[in-house]
Amino acid sequence: MATVLKSFAPPAHDHGRCIKTALVKAERACTASGKRLTPLRRRVLELIWNSHLPVKAYELLSQLAQERAQAAPPTVYRALEFLQDAGLVHRIASLNAFVGCGEPLAGHVSQFLICTRCGTVAELAEPALSAGIAASAQRLGFKVARETIEVEGLCRDCQKAERALTR
Ligand SMILES: [Zn+2]
Ligand SMILES: [Zn+2]
Ligand SMILES: [Zn+2]
Repeated sequence: MATVLKSFAPPAHDHGRCIKTALVKAERACTASGKRLTPLRRRVLELIWNSHLPVKAYELLSQLAQERAQAAPPTVYRALEFLQDAGLVHRIASLNAFVGCGEPLAGHVSQFLICTRCGTVAELAEPALSAGIAASAQRLGFKVARETIEVEGLCRDCQKAERALTR
């Protein structure tokens, strides 16, 4: 059974808590791996966690430009790279956007379910999938460098909304 690392956003919830929890987990993950969450890296992470929707780099850039004079694009890109390497955020390749990781303390290869209607993303960890891919790759003498599994569909709320529309 796959572990749900991050579920779709509940329709009404205390998102302030999501952000707070994410920042606490990020601090812990950085301390555990001896990495430093500088104020800029922390702010970029916080902006990514502003919602459960994937965020594009240019959106982060324009938000940061308003609050920090020194938020030049290379600095922000470096912060994004750091956050990815530290496992605090994931890049959704098909959207070229970033989402906060639900469980940065657990090392994982994750898979993403992307709702094409509301844009929210859920993060899963299904080791059997990765194991299957690794086994097949090995049989073909292929060395896996990066594994990206992104599944498009409709979240439960959007299915309900679609049903209401067609009724
Ligand atoms: Zn939330
Ligand atoms: Zn993750
Ligand atoms: Zn949806």
